[in-house]
Amino acid sequence: MYLSKLLYSLPLAATLLLTLPFKSQASQAHSFDAAAKQTASPSATLQQEVHADMNFLADDELHGRGSATRDEHIAALFVASQLQSLGLEPGGDNGTFLQKSTLPVPLPARTQQRIAKFQDIPRKETWNAIAILRGTTSPNEVILLTAHLDHLGIGPANSSGDTNYNGADDDASGTTAVLTLAHILATGPHPKRTIVFALFGSEELGGFGNRAFLAHPPVPLTSIVANLEFEMIGRPDPAVPTGTLWLTGFDRSNLGPELAKHGAHLVNDPHPKENFFRRSDNYALAQQGIIAQTVSSYGLHKDYHQPSDEIRTIDFSHMTNAIASMINPIRWLADSDWKPEWNPGRRPDSNPTGPPPLNAHPPVS
Ligand SMILES: [Zn+2]
Repeated sequence: MYLSKLLYSLPLAATLLLTLPFKSQASQAHSFDAAAKQTASPSATLQQEVHADMNFLADDELHGRGSATRDEHIAALFVASQLQSLGLEPGGDNGTFLQKSTLPVPLPARTQQRIAKFQDIPRKETWNAIAILRGTTSPNEVILLTAHLDHLGIGPANSSGDTNYNGADDDASGTTAVLTLAHILATGPHPKRTIVFALFGSEELGGFGNRAFLAHPPVPLTSIVANLEFEMIGRPDPAVPTGTLWLTGFDRSNLGPELAKHGAHLVNDPHPKENFFRRSDNYALAQQGIIAQTVSSYGLHKDYHQPSDEIRTIDFSHMTNAIASMINPIRWLADSDWKPEWNPGRRPDSNPTGPPPLNAHPPVS
């Protein structure tokens, strides 16, 4: 997730599905924790998978998956390999699951400033991992599920001498969510609409991976019905009821309310001053007119963009239930012919002719 402008300028078994505790038609905004308690072990297998993915992505040996570094490439390879193992169609370059793009030379001044405090290594290319689950009856309508697989890499030490910005919550948690959803959706009954899973590189530098996706999309951008980005769902947000997630730009479209009607434990973003709608990869898609919003439970914790955003801080029960709570709502959306719309006057401004916005900013120390 980007720092805000304000701050700156100022193999899961298909049987798992049978054990999930969530009712697809639930219309009350009950919490997923409460729902989970009604079943002894709602998702032990899912929790194991979540642990496994997180243990890899947030391990010290990945050096914080620095944007456009070899470590980001390794994270992308890991994600691509998993997507391939699910039997999904490749959505990357030349029949692969990876999409490579070259960063501009020189990097924009703001990007250089952004990385000045971090490890001084060449940052020439970035990597997305993309896969397609082709829809059965409406293959030309696409639901896009995304997260960013990069983070800040190696940087200034904190008071404990830790220089590894692991990014467990930001955004190994979202990457794991998309991977896990890919597993569940690919191994269940195939949806009517196509689902594209895309994990972006170099979000933290200003959305370079996302720009490559927009420039070379695996499906026509006009076919994308909705994009849900997953950002920082590894810990609960005390600002919302236990067992709920929030959706950025909730009141901008009818997507959040409709997903909530179909069982999602989604509420309005409780931190409007943070401007989170504009602070993730969803925003560049929204500027293209795509209904694109971010699912999160980031509670403004102090480990944001710090070496302490580590796996030990992850609430795996919360995170697993959060992912599970989105399965049936996404399945409903992928099987329906309902299309979300912007609310009147709430579509974000587009800038189709100018350069893409650069929303990344240096950390505030
Ligand atoms: Zn971030």
